[in-house]
Amino acid sequence: MCKRPGEPKNNDQYLISMQHPPPKMPLRSPYLCRMQILNGKETAQAIKDSLKLEVAQLASRGAPVPHLVAILVGNNGASETYVASKVKACHEVGFKSTLIRLEEETSELKLLEIIRGLNIDPDVDGILVQLPLPAHISAEEVINTIDCNKDVDGFHPNNVGRMVLGQPTFVPATPYGIMLMLEHYKVETRGKHAVVIGRSNIVGRPMSILLSGSSNPGNCTVTICHSSTKNLEEICQSADIIVAALGRPGFVKADMVKEGAVVIDVGITRVDDPTKKSGYRISGDVDFTDVAPKCSFITPVPGGVGPMTIAALMKNTFRACAMKHYD
Ligand code: NAD
Repeated sequence: MCKRPGEPKNNDQYLISMQHPPPKMPLRSPYLCRMQILNGKETAQAIKDSLKLEVAQLASRGAPVPHLVAILVGNNGASETYVASKVKACHEVGFKSTLIRLEEETSELKLLEIIRGLNIDPDVDGILVQLPLPAHISAEEVINTIDCNKDVDGFHPNNVGRMVLGQPTFVPATPYGIMLMLEHYKVETRGKHAVVIGRSNIVGRPMSILLSGSSNPGNCTVTICHSSTKNLEEICQSADIIVAALGRPGFVKADMVKEGAVVIDVGITRVDDPTKKSGYRISGDVDFTDVAPKCSFITPVPGGVGPMTIAALMKNTFRACAMKHYD
């Protein structure tokens, strides 16, 4: 059971005060839970600030600084935004970055040729190809072609295998960012029941592996749910931690969440909104207003998992450079 700020420290006192609330005490929610926002923006900034210091030290010694190359094929609006954020983050921390823009019609052969060139370029530490790719290009072929020592997205089979075995590797940025956030806020995960909704290779599946690992954060008992899961609501109701990564705006409602649960919202969906200049707003997979009062910790959208994903990518890129030059 947890408490709200400014209210009695002892639970018994709290329960008594709930029965006889002082006249001016606002009752913000019917739950006894004190909710804390997991602020991804602030946490990511702290990670970037620390990386920036390390990069500045390298640069002051005349040593090579990390260089990330991002490849964007076509002009998908959301992908443009994600790539721009990654390039901006590189700039913030002092990395070199190169953005290679390719036409939508670029052949798979041409893209693979570019990747092979980057693999052998000693000036390049990290390579990422923004997904999704146009339908005529196989994402699997592309991922398999990236040198696994430059695969800062952590999607190459060698890196996925290493992650499953608990060996040091590039962990996919979104689940890695979530682990960093749980660590930053010292969220207790050991022995907890974590429910991950979504089984994609980039979010749900690696998330389930990391949370079930013998690490801290980690040591959870994990249930992974997907589009064929029966009794999803019941399963969620038994969760101490819910990671929602299914891409259905507002899917997780308060009646699916146990009081005091930790709720991580990975979803990013553009929802039409004529009141916005852009014509859309970003929505997460959790109905935040409904769910937040019941949680011990919850991530907002935007400003939760999104910035942590970028910070984690920066950490992976730094690692790629360090492995090459300094290990
Ligand atoms: P995906 O489409 O590859 O996978 C979705 C998963 O959800 C599938 O495994 C599917 O089985 C499951 N699913 C779909 N409907 C379901 C339902 N009704 N009940 C239970 N499971 C259901 O998606 P993804 O790439 O994993 O991304 C998921 C969401 O996370 C998207 O909104 C995406 O934009 C977002 N995302 C955010 C970040 C970030 O940095 N915040 C990064 C990656 C993805």
